[in-house]
Amino acid sequence: MSDGAVPTLPHGPKGMGGTPIALRNDCPQPGGSSFLEMWGQLRPIGRHRASGGYRRFAWTDADAECRAWFEAQARGRGLAYEVDRNGNQWAWLGDPARGDAVVTGSHLDSVPDGGAFDGPLGVVSAFAALDELLRRDVRFAKPLGIVNFGDEEGARFGLACVGSRLTAGALTVEQAHRLTDADGITLPQAMEAAGYDPGSLGADPGRLDRIGAFVELHVEQGRALDLSGDRVGIASAIWPHGRWRFDFRGEANHAGTTRLADRRDPMPAYAETVLAARREAELAGAVATFGKIAVEPNGVNAIPSLVRGWLDSRATDQERLDAVVGGVERAAREYAAAHGVDLNVERESFTPVVEFDHALRDELARILGSDTDLKVPVLGTGAGHDAGILSGRVPTAMLFVRNPTGVSHSPAEFATEDDCVAGVLALADVLEGLACT
Ligand SMILES: [Zn+2]
Repeated sequence: MSDGAVPTLPHGPKGMGGTPIALRNDCPQPGGSSFLEMWGQLRPIGRHRASGGYRRFAWTDADAECRAWFEAQARGRGLAYEVDRNGNQWAWLGDPARGDAVVTGSHLDSVPDGGAFDGPLGVVSAFAALDELLRRDVRFAKPLGIVNFGDEEGARFGLACVGSRLTAGALTVEQAHRLTDADGITLPQAMEAAGYDPGSLGADPGRLDRIGAFVELHVEQGRALDLSGDRVGIASAIWPHGRWRFDFRGEANHAGTTRLADRRDPMPAYAETVLAARREAELAGAVATFGKIAVEPNGVNAIPSLVRGWLDSRATDQERLDAVVGGVERAAREYAAAHGVDLNVERESFTPVVEFDHALRDELARILGSDTDLKVPVLGTGAGHDAGILSGRVPTAMLFVRNPTGVSHSPAEFATEDDCVAGVLALADVLEGLACT
């Protein structure tokens, strides 16, 4: 925490239309120092001692601690606190029933051994940005909401963005009920064990209708800002992305006695396909990854009968993605034929491009661009977010904060204190521009 002096406000904080709001924190800290204090509070929750990474999985004890922290932040500021029918947490300044609300926030859960920033940076920055606005003594013309979406990473039940998908109607109750973790515990059972009512799960169109704009701040999961030398960026789009399963089937045989000429070995065909994926991605300016593999019978001295590899590919647009995946599949068929093995390719999941609302994006650029010290590039991302799920229903935008290594979903994920504070101030400027008179 910074030991900088906390300025005293000349007046109490103002609510909507100038109506004073009863806030308990009548001497708000500047956004930067309240950020550091909150960051320190969250830091130990769900951190694994050996790996140094976070294990904040949905509806576990670590998740409950994060949720308790969120509730305390809301109540500590005198905000109206509520949990919606899908377990997402909300904190409100002003009455959301008035509509056209401006909402910001992100998620507090993590991937296995994830970093500290993916998700929590957006939630902590949201509260810190509100503190900054109260310090500026702004007048709110619209209700302001802060949200923590549940189970964004999908680490426990295998599906990402469960909280926002349910709310947006992009996941049905029946599908949600079928989600099961590695121990055979279903999502409703896990929610119930954590003290939530799974009977209320379902689409929440009325809640979304009251939101005029949703802005999610997130640590960048790449190096675009580091390379351009900027602290903060605005998202243009989430790239189209998908997963494809490649099954190479050959013939198991003895590794010592089978002549090379007699083999039907799927492994070399798979290996050449991995290299083809790299080549195609480079050609298209996209990314392609074989990150998971299953081998049968998986014996050191056995030629495999099956090599199953999963391709994850993402590109700036559909045409490029089609070119990469089509190119990889063509190459795989060639290599499979050359090695006498069969190939089957299945698309397991696919998400089309998400273009963030152009008018809101331009508004953010205008607000942030008026500060001549801050150059704010607009960039795409290959990672999925709650903002992407909501974008079909609500005008949505994202702010990215520089990540000097680009590493994410790892304990090495990082953003400097100065950049985090720059993110808080940028978010405060955006919220002031959107919600205040
Ligand atoms: Zn995230």
